[in-house]
Parts: sequence; C-alpha cells; structure tokens
Amino acid sequence: MGSTGSIGTQALKVVCRHPERLRVVALTAHRNLALLEEQARRFRPEMVGMVGEEEAAELRRRLAGTGIRVSAGKDCLLEAARHPGAETVLNAVVGSAGLPPTLAALQAGKRLALANKESMVAGGELVREALGHGGELIPVDSEHGAVFHCLRGEEMENVACIVLTASGGPFRGRSREELVSVTVEEALAHPTWSMGRKITVDSATLMNKGLEVIEAHFLFGLPYERIKVIIHPQSVIHSLVEFVDGSFAAQLSLPDMRLPICLALSYPERWGPPFRRSAVAELGSLTFEEVDREAFGCLDLAYRAGGKGGLHTAVLNAANEVAVEAFLEGRIAFLGIEEVIGATLDDFRPAPLRSLEDILRAEEWARSRAGEAVRERAGEKGTAGKRQTGGGGRR
Ligand code: NAD
Ligand code: MG
Repeated sequence: MGSTGSIGTQALKVVCRHPERLRVVALTAHRNLALLEEQARRFRPEMVGMVGEEEAAELRRRLAGTGIRVSAGKDCLLEAARHPGAETVLNAVVGSAGLPPTLAALQAGKRLALANKESMVAGGELVREALGHGGELIPVDSEHGAVFHCLRGEEMENVACIVLTASGGPFRGRSREELVSVTVEEALAHPTWSMGRKITVDSATLMNKGLEVIEAHFLFGLPYERIKVIIHPQSVIHSLVEFVDGSFAAQLSLPDMRLPICLALSYPERWGPPFRRSAVAELGSLTFEEVDREAFGCLDLAYRAGGKGGLHTAVLNAANEVAVEAFLEGRIAFLGIEEVIGATLDDFRPAPLRSLEDILRAEEWARSRAGEAVRERAGEKGTAGKRQTGGGGRR
C-alpha cells in the first residue's frame, strides 16, 4: 500500500532482487495514475487500488483486458490489507489514512511490515489490541527496525532504554532565531535521506523523531522516560538499545531504506543485500550530540502528548499533518508548524478511546482546530468560530 511513494518504489526494487521469494498480489496508490499503471503492468498483481475515484475509472479503462482488477476509493486499502493471497502487507501510505488498513491487516492475521508510523501514533492502543488476532508486526521505520533486530533473543526485562538516533535534519545546529525565516526548499533538502515530502518536513522540525518516540512506545511497550533521542548526523547507526548491564547494541549500515524494507520482508531469515555491501571504513566517523529542544519544540510536544496518552497522540498527529501541509503550501512559517500543533493540543478536551471511530472523531476535531490556527497565522479569514480559549501564543 502506497506503492507509488518513496518507500513503495524502493520496496518494489527489493521485490525485483528476490523474484524467487516475493510476488506482488496487490498494489495501491492515492492518485498517481501513470506510475500505478506502469507498476501493474510490470508486477502483474491480482488487484490494484486507487483512492482517487476518477483516476481509478481511468485506470480501469487502461488495464481492461489484463485480468487485473481495479478497486476504487478508500476501501481499496482495506481490500488490499485483507487480500487472501497476501502473506505480508507493507503499509507505506503516508498519514493516518494508514490506520484502518493497519488494523485490517492485523485482524486478518497478516504479517504487517509497517512503514506508516502515523497509524501507530494515531491508534497505537488499537494496534496493540489488534495484534491479539494472530497477526505480526515488523517495523520498517529504520530506527524501529534497528531496535527490533537488536532485541532478537533478548528479554525485555534486560532492556534499560532505547536510544533513537536522529540525523538532525537540514537545520541541525541552527538557533530558534535562525529558524524563523527558513524556506520550504531548505526544509525539503534533507542531508542524508531521500524521502516523501511530508516525512522530510517532519525530519526538519524533528516531529519525525517525536512520532517515532510514540511509535517505539507502542511497539516495544516501554514507558516514555526510557525512550531517548540522540542526534547522529551520519545516519549510520540506526538506533541503539542499552541493557541493564550498561552495554549497548546497535545496528549500522549506510543509510538506505531498502535494508529495513528487506529485513521486514525476509524476517526471520536474512537474504542477500538489497544494495551493495560496504566496507566498515566506508561508514566513516560517527558522532553524537544532544537535541536542542529550545530550537526544535516539536519533540517535546510529542513527549507531552505521549505522556498524556489516550487520544492525545492522534490529535498531535492530525494537527501535524494539517500544519505540514500548510507550510508546504507557503501559508505558515516553519515555526508556525509547532505553534499550530501546540495550540491544538492546548485546546483538546480528552474523551475516552474505545474504537477507531473515537480516533476518527478526535482527528476530525484536531484537523478543524489546526485549520483555524493556520488561518490565524496566515492572516486569512477565520471561521465564525466557537473556539475555546487557551490556545495559541505558546513560546
Ligand atoms: P510518499 O509521500 O513518498 O508516498 C506515500 C504513498 O502513499 C504514495 O504511494 C501515495 O499514493 C499514497 N497515499 C498518500 N495519501 C494517501 C491516502 N490518503 N490514502 C491512501 N494512500 C495514500 O511517502 P513516503 O516517504 O514513502 O512515506 C510513507 C510512510 O513511510 C510514511 O508514514 C513515512 O513516515 C514512512 N517512512 C518513510 C521513510 C522514507 O524513507 N521515505 C522512512 C521511514 C518511514
Ligand atoms: Mg525513521
């Protein structure tokens, strides 16, 4: 799912390296008609799904006679996630649109290779519950993949903490003042990883690491005070586990997402390398520094939402999605992203989390509140709001 994106296209490269082991039975995309058609012709899945209805209709015309079924609308994700022919479901959708298919895949007893961290952030409690149905979750996010592999054969009671590494993004070393006027182009120029636009902006604000802290909490069941973040600009150590005896385990490789994708698809086996092997000297020198939490406020917002639990992380995630979109559209400044998220969290009145519907409702509220915060900052006309006080003006 998300086959036309950065992770999706790299996953198909992994499939090409292992044709004797991997066969594609379903592919889905949002609106990229040309690429999904090309992928369908090349990989011959039983079904393809296109969220955009018009694009789906056109794709159906183009694929007529090939025997490939075309499914349209959001439900195509659920269909792909439950496809009877699929053993492993790779969720590489961007945003919390990935939550329903994450739950569906696990409820159908599949192995879920999860790149879509937003589904964990929005619905981690439900994802953990869904794991009771016989499904299995292998993280694809490089940090969590690294931790997962460092924990192989270990008892969780021997784990002191997890240390997630962060490259620091394009603005590492800048002060808060220096972040005031950074541009979209600068934010999209990531120093070590080439990724989709949303996660690239998340990496620049460090919200990506915040989302990953929450993802780690739900994946590995550790309290937030035992999940730490360290800046490691080379992105060679993908994360570390510290054990109670004071020793560390880490996973190292050149930064290339085909490795964690391949590890998730091959687990518990190890297959030939998905890209060339590297000599140790090539990994170069490795350095570490603390996060500047004054300059990059998003990380603390994520810890704060995580600590509150319940629907707070879904609200954090939805507000972030709205804010990043607004930044990419040039409507708010870079620091406006954390202001919009902070204002939304400040105004959130917690409700119980029992079902997916509760999450969708909280997200809807958060998108609307965050949209209002965007308009305030963009100097656009606000809605005739019934907005509660207490938001805005943080920092
Ligand atoms: P991307 O924007 O390049 O691709 C997103 C894919 O999802 C596309 O195929 C798109 O068609 C599809 N999509 C978008 N909106 C959708 C919707 N509403 N419903 C259904 N499908 C939709 O994103 P990406 O960089 O490949 O990231 C995908 C996920 O993997 C994100 O959750 C990201 O955080 C995570 N991730 C990415 C990387 C990376 O290197 N790119 C690394 C770690 C984790
Ligand atoms: Mg990551």
